[in-house]
Amino acid sequence: MSENKKLEKIVGVKGMNDLLPTDAPLWELFENTVQSVLKSYGFQQIRTPIVEPTALFARGLGEVTDIVEKEMYSFEDAMNGDKLTLRPENTAGVVRAALEHNLTYEGPKRLWYNGPMFRHEKPQRGRYRQFHQVGAEALGFSGPDIDAELIMMCQRLWDDLGLQNVRLELNSIGDAQERNLHRTALIAYFEQNRELLDAEALRRLHSNPLRILDTKNPAMQVMVNAAPKLLDYLGAESLAHFEGVQKILRDNSIPFTINTRLVRGMDYYNRTVFEWVTDQLGSQGTVCAGGRYDSLFSIFGGKPTPACGFAMGIERLLELMKESGETHAPAQCDVYLVHQGAAAQAQSFVLGERLRDAGLDVVLHCATASGVGSFKSQMKKADGSGAAYAVIIGEDEALAHTVIVKAMRADDMENNQVSVPFDTAVDYLVDQITGAGEADHCCDDPTHIHIHH
Ligand code: ATP
Ligand code: MG
Repeated sequence: MSENKKLEKIVGVKGMNDLLPTDAPLWELFENTVQSVLKSYGFQQIRTPIVEPTALFARGLGEVTDIVEKEMYSFEDAMNGDKLTLRPENTAGVVRAALEHNLTYEGPKRLWYNGPMFRHEKPQRGRYRQFHQVGAEALGFSGPDIDAELIMMCQRLWDDLGLQNVRLELNSIGDAQERNLHRTALIAYFEQNRELLDAEALRRLHSNPLRILDTKNPAMQVMVNAAPKLLDYLGAESLAHFEGVQKILRDNSIPFTINTRLVRGMDYYNRTVFEWVTDQLGSQGTVCAGGRYDSLFSIFGGKPTPACGFAMGIERLLELMKESGETHAPAQCDVYLVHQGAAAQAQSFVLGERLRDAGLDVVLHCATASGVGSFKSQMKKADGSGAAYAVIIGEDEALAHTVIVKAMRADDMENNQVSVPFDTAVDYLVDQITGAGEADHCCDDPTHIHIHH
């Protein structure tokens, strides 16, 4: 007996989740749907690094935002002292890449991304330290039309995903000048109500008073509700833009409510801002958020380029899909290959490749620490795999150049297996699998053998 002490297990980082195979079909359904919806609007995928210079976020998002103040995973590269950050969001990265590669040189670009983001938050339902976002960024477009298109694209995605309980909240936060006028009025109003402000609001009173409107503190709600509204400070152009977005949404029967309190967390937004929210996920009910960010290119030292985008939280949307009763069967293979002996194993490899060439999903039985196992134990594995068919090659079959095809889910368990020549096994299985469900399907192919009579 070994006296060695068992080594301590290493567990994953708090708030960073493993995506397990049982959930993979749901992720795949989500991602495939996203990909096809975005493609149908002419959006092209972009993949930027997970690590960016810290300055990108500090400058892009604004120093007095939740993310930059307290949520970023920042570190110094021990090799060269570079200041780096795990991306907390991806608009900054996409705009950096667009500038670096002159992506809008020939005209506007519709881009989208999908990937992990990192924020040092208190982990809870719908809030993780590594989470995943799909986002779209429309670069170089200035009109209300693209804002509306982005929103309609989301609506189509919810429809395609079968999500019904997501509603749209819309607002305009105007341009820098309009926000300044409002800001002055807002600070004056909060000064008058100073005794009602909590510590965080006091801290933000002069640095980011707009953010106070976003407070979740119930004791401040009444006071905040009566605060000067940014909407009342918008000039003619901003109002026309906002009205333009609303008109397209109304024309296309996209319901929305105007939420004058909606300001969004990042500094770079202007004019249109929106959120898709649900009541089905508790307090983490925002599944998608976005808006216009006409100044971000210049903030990064580029030529002024109007733009609009959104990001959606995949974990929250998957949760919502589950709530809506979306179940997705685990992936199952078509054929499980069972074999005994060296010659049979060699033939299984050949047959497996031919079946895959024909488009089938095949699992070949492979050895574990206890070897390949008996027929019986291999058949148990075949059963557990959910395969529609097991193909069995024993020593006799290998010699005779035949295989046994066993239907794993036949109604008639007596007549559920048949011997087929090795060379016709692929045709036979393809026919069985693709022809499945076609009752009394007959063909002239002499190699065609019916399992059920
Ligand atoms: P919240 O107010 O919930 O903190 P946020 O304004 O910080 O959201 P955004 O930066 O706008 O969120 O990100 C867009 C979307 O990404 C959110 O609406 C949400 O669905 C998702 N999201 C943001 N942070 C997290 C997180 N820590 N864990 C899981 N999903 C997140
Ligand atoms: Mg947040």
